[in-house]
Amino acid sequence: MTREWSRCLVYHVDVTTIITSAAEVFAFDNTYARNLEGLYVPWKAAEVPDPKLIKLNHALADELGLDAKALDSPEGALIFSGNQLPEGTATIAQAYAGHQFGGFSPQLGDGRALLLGEVIDKHGKRRDIAFKGSGRTPFSRGGDGKAALGPVLREYIIGEAMHALGIPTTRALAAVTTGEFVRRERNLPGAVLTRVASSHIRVGTFQFVTARGDIPLLRRLADYVIARHYSDLKGQPEPCLELLKAVCEKQAELIARWMNAGFIHGVMNTDNVTLSGETIDYGPCAFMDRYDPATVFSSIDEQGRYAYANQPPIANWNLSRLAEALLPLLIEEQNNDQDRTVARATEVLEAFQVRYQYHWLRGMRKKLGLTRDENEDFDLAADFLKTMEGQGVDFTQAFRRLADVVQGAGALSEIGLHKLYADDTALNAWLPRWRERLNAESISPVQRAQAMRAVNPVYIPRNHKVEEALDAAVELGNYAPFGQLLDVLQQPFVERAGLAAYAEPASVNESSGYRTFCGT
Ligand code: AMP
Ligand code: MG
Repeated sequence: MTREWSRCLVYHVDVTTIITSAAEVFAFDNTYARNLEGLYVPWKAAEVPDPKLIKLNHALADELGLDAKALDSPEGALIFSGNQLPEGTATIAQAYAGHQFGGFSPQLGDGRALLLGEVIDKHGKRRDIAFKGSGRTPFSRGGDGKAALGPVLREYIIGEAMHALGIPTTRALAAVTTGEFVRRERNLPGAVLTRVASSHIRVGTFQFVTARGDIPLLRRLADYVIARHYSDLKGQPEPCLELLKAVCEKQAELIARWMNAGFIHGVMNTDNVTLSGETIDYGPCAFMDRYDPATVFSSIDEQGRYAYANQPPIANWNLSRLAEALLPLLIEEQNNDQDRTVARATEVLEAFQVRYQYHWLRGMRKKLGLTRDENEDFDLAADFLKTMEGQGVDFTQAFRRLADVVQGAGALSEIGLHKLYADDTALNAWLPRWRERLNAESISPVQRAQAMRAVNPVYIPRNHKVEEALDAAVELGNYAPFGQLLDVLQQPFVERAGLAAYAEPASVNESSGYRTFCGT
């Protein structure tokens, strides 16, 4: 054997040994694949030329019971690129349908994603591990199945920010570059994101099955979702109606959380609505800076269908699509009485608005420092937002400044708040109402300000900071700004020295016309 060959062999043996140790940390189970045949295609990730690990999410790896140290290595790059899959993976591309911008596609599916399997986390919760950007699948249609580095990092950043803000979300476990370029408007570095989710079952998954008229599979899917996400409903007399109600409740709470944080998802198609109630698919999403209910960032959302203020009614619309998909099961539950079925489902769907308002107001009370429930609170909260309209007020900072007002005494503490307004006439009318409402509660100003600061973030993923981090990574291969931004966002509620730049919106000039693109 030549010297060259022997070196190769030694190298090969070494890598294999390490891979086994890093890969052994996954104890995969595959209940989705076992229970839901017909809803996926077994498929393999495309091999990539030169995988490099950009970031491993140590905290999440720990939560999943994985050995972060073993995975934070070149071998981890092989695993998270799909080049070398751990034992127990049976990678599949999931099938789903979806209404995209109102139009129905009976077959979308994982065109650039694969489910590796499920692991049980430290809390006993089943979590999906999946790739995004792992190559073409039978669902790819015209797409290349790949992901560009920028969108992968955006999903990593926003998902982690949402998690730190306490908003239910899928999360990033790892990001790798692939060593190849993907063709977009220009050539961009390719990347793969490893995503962790409570599950990847979407409203579109139900739509896929119902569109095909496969009622036995629909029943299996509903049973599976109930067992996995809503086990309390098992054995109820009307489990599917209860499932619809439970998903409506989860979505009402989720969208209220988005609205309370100024988050705009940007592409609330039914294939991007999870049954688990987690935020999924961070494409053209962004946080609103200056308060404007009509804010839209997505370059493809020309009609503003998914504008900030439209998110609650759109969620309601999406849930109506879920009800339609569940209809065959709902009818059966109501002994084939169609009128009764429609009436019961309509009742659930109509309740969404009330449930949404309940969660929104709950969040707003906390943001405004209110501890009791009073009838006037809804108007008080809504009117605070109205004071911001047209005044160029930074949504996130406004709430933070309110906490300063509470803690300080007199006019000085109000300066920061007033400074946010171009014209503070409406604010001046609102503040005395709020003060009067606060006076009706006996809680110390310090305590109240503390409670407000615990729910009103200082740091959100500011659009210009996200772009800065993505640019440095994509154009210069410099991941430092990405890492710093992630660090800052890990503790969104704790103001820290030297981080003022992360708390400020971009100037009006810089941010006007800010557009995000569907990350693919
Ligand atoms: P999304 O906008 O990420 O929710 O994706 C919508 C649909 O388009 C899904 O079925 C994706 O799998 C598919 N898709 C998006 N980008 C690509 C791509 N680059 N290659 C193949 N399929 C894609
Ligand atoms: Mg999607």
